[in-house]
Amino acid sequence: TKDITDFRKDRRIRVYGTDVPGPFEQFSDLASAPYSMDQKLLRNLRDSKYTTPTPIQMQAVPIMINERDLMACAPTGSGKTMAYLLPILHDLKKHDKVGYRALIIAPTRELAQQIDRELSRLSAGTKIKSHLLTKSFTAADKTQLPEQRQKFDILISTPMRLIYAVKEKEVDLSQVRHLILDEADKLLDHGFLEQTDEIFAAFSGSPVRKAMFSATFSSTIEELAQTVMKNPIRIVVGAKNA
Ligand code: ADP
Ligand code: MG
Repeated sequence: TKDITDFRKDRRIRVYGTDVPGPFEQFSDLASAPYSMDQKLLRNLRDSKYTTPTPIQMQAVPIMINERDLMACAPTGSGKTMAYLLPILHDLKKHDKVGYRALIIAPTRELAQQIDRELSRLSAGTKIKSHLLTKSFTAADKTQLPEQRQKFDILISTPMRLIYAVKEKEVDLSQVRHLILDEADKLLDHGFLEQTDEIFAAFSGSPVRKAMFSATFSSTIEELAQTVMKNPIRIVVGAKNA
């Protein structure tokens, strides 16, 4: 409708795709239908220093809650991390011992650590557990028994570390239903593209929802999206004065 078009325009949100869900406006909107987010998540949002959602959060959250594949392009520092963590936590709801249900891939260890920290804050009190695979292969990783691996709901990793873990059957990705490629463009510089088949083959279960977040999108990323995504929606959020 006209309202939604103006709202997006004011916030420099452009969307491409079919049946694109409208943006939400305020965190308090998430308390009621159609979102009806968990009370603990809402409390963590209230406790955070964030007063208003950023444009990418406004538009990406409803799209991901509607289980659509997504390519989201928004400037650095615009809050992309929470734009995907919030809908993932909303979907996973609580801890479940089936194993990893979400996989987040980030280009560097530092970034993976930042994501894990933000996830801890946002998931406080929900009992959702995340595991950060780091570059160094620790003795603790190696001795993890299969039943201990099932303790985690969300896996965060760098590409090379993940590929190693998949090859060594160190992680079980068969229950994954959310895949996030963060800083997707940079992932390609880290040897990700050549290994995607192997990673995707490890998702033996039900369909996996895929989302890519980046400040820029190259033609290679576009091609990857074409190959692996189903009827994706694209969001492009402009810089403040672009
Ligand atoms: P990006 O991934 O787009 O570069 P980040 O997710 O790293 O951005 O977020 C950048 C900073 O903005 C972080 O310090 C984060 O805590 C903060 N932030 C995220 N969402 C909001 C919000 N709605 N309001 C204010 N600050 C936010
Ligand atoms: Mg980021």
